[in-house]
Amino acid sequence: MTPAQRHADSRQALGLVILGATGSIGSSTLDVVARHPQRYSVRALTAHTSTQRLLKLCDRHRPRQAVLSGCVEDAALRRRFAEAGCELRFGPAALAEVAAAVECDAVMAAIVGAAGLPATLAAACAGKRVLLANKEALVMAGPLFMRAAGEAGAVLLPIDSEHNAVFQCLPQEGAGVSLRGVRRIQLTASGGPFRVTPLERLARVTPDEACAHPNWVMGRKISVDSATMMNKGLEVIEAHWLFGLPAERIGVLIHPQSVVHSLVEYLDGSVIAQLSHPDMRVPIAHALGFPERIDSGARTLDLGAVGQLSFGQPDAARFPCLELAYGALRAGGNVPAVLNAANEVAVQAFLAGRLRFTGIAPVIEEALARVAAGTAASLEHVMDADARARRAAADSVMRLMGQAA
Ligand code: NAD
Ligand code: MG
Repeated sequence: MTPAQRHADSRQALGLVILGATGSIGSSTLDVVARHPQRYSVRALTAHTSTQRLLKLCDRHRPRQAVLSGCVEDAALRRRFAEAGCELRFGPAALAEVAAAVECDAVMAAIVGAAGLPATLAAACAGKRVLLANKEALVMAGPLFMRAAGEAGAVLLPIDSEHNAVFQCLPQEGAGVSLRGVRRIQLTASGGPFRVTPLERLARVTPDEACAHPNWVMGRKISVDSATMMNKGLEVIEAHWLFGLPAERIGVLIHPQSVVHSLVEYLDGSVIAQLSHPDMRVPIAHALGFPERIDSGARTLDLGAVGQLSFGQPDAARFPCLELAYGALRAGGNVPAVLNAANEVAVQAFLAGRLRFTGIAPVIEEALARVAAGTAASLEHVMDADARARRAAADSVMRLMGQAA
C-alpha cells in the first residue's frame, strides 16, 4: 500500500522526517507540507548549526524529534526545544539514527553535500521511502546506495527537478518506472549566471555573482555548481544510478528559461517533456503526493506569457566540469566520489574567497589525477576516496593561492 493509499484509507496523517530542514529544499518542503495539515505530520527535523531557525520550525511544526548535527550537547537548548514538545539530539551520529529509526512514511533527504550520505544511506537501508534531493550521496556511493535500497525495499523518489521530470515522463510500472521503448534522456540546464559572460571575465567573478542564479533560488553550494555546470555533471551521474542508463544515453541541453525540466526520447521519435515554473515546490509536491497529485503552491504555467523557449548545446570550453563528471561516470568505482569531494573543497574555497572561479575545474582535475582509482564496494572505500580527494584538493587550492598572491 502506498502512503497515499494509507492516508486515503485511514485518514491518518503521513509521517515525515526532514533532513536539512532549514535549507532551501527543507523550507520548500515545509511550505508544501503546511498547505496540507490533515495529510502530513512532521515527525523529525534536522539542521546543522542554525539553532534559532530550527527552533522556530519546531515551534511551528511540532515534531517529536530534532537534531542539531553541528552542535555539542547544550542543556539549556535541550530544555527550550522540550518546551516545543521536541526531544533535541546533538552531533552527526544522531542524523543517521533519526533517518533510520523514527517511524515515518517518508524521509526527505535534503542535507547538502557528502555530509548527507550516512543519513540518506541509513534511510535507504531501513527500507524507507526516500525523497532524494541530496544528489551527492548517490554520486559518491551509487552502487552501494542502489543495492541497499533494493535489498531493503526502499522506494526512491527524485526531488531534483530534472530527475523528477524524467521520472514523470518514463513509462510507469508498478510503484516505479521502466525504460521500455526509451532511446535516451536529456537533462536540461539553464547555463547559470555565466552562460554568456565573456570567458576572460570568469577569473574575476565573485561568489555573490555566482550565487545569483537567473531562475532558481537555492543554497550557495548548488548555486556555484550551477554556475560551473558541475551540478549538471553530478545530475548525469545521479540519473545513471536512478534510471539505469549508461552515460551515452544521458544528454544535456542548455535551456535558459528553466521551464522544460527534462525530456525522454522514445524509439519511435516521440519526445515527452515535463514543464512548470522553476519552483522546487513542484517536484517536492509530486514526490510527497505520489502517486496522487497535490497542490504545491506554485503558479500555473502560462506558456503564452512565457512566449519563447530556447535550447542549445553546452559549451565545453566554458563548462569544463561537465566533461570531468562524464569522465568520472565512465571510470566508475571511487572516481565519482573523488570528483564530488574535490568539487566540495574547491567550491568552499571559492565561496571563502580563497580560489578563483576558474580555479575550480583545475583543482578537481588534479585530484582526479592524484587519487588512485579503486573500488567503491563499501562505505569505507567511499569515505577513504573522499578523504584522499579532500587532501589533494586542499593542496591544489593552497598552491593556486600561492601563485595568485
Ligand atoms: P542549503 O545549503 O540551502 O541547505 C542545506 C541543509 O543541510 C541545511 O538545513 C543545513 O543545516 C544542512 N547541513 C549543512 N551542512 C550540514 C552538515 N555538515 N551536516 C548535516 N547537515 C548539514 O542546501 P539546498 O540548496 O537546500 O540543497 C540541499 C540538497 O538538495 C543538495 O544536495 C542539493 O544539491 C539538492 N538540490 C537542491 C535544489 C535547490 O533548489 N536548492 C535543487 C535540486 C537539488
Ligand atoms: Mg537539478
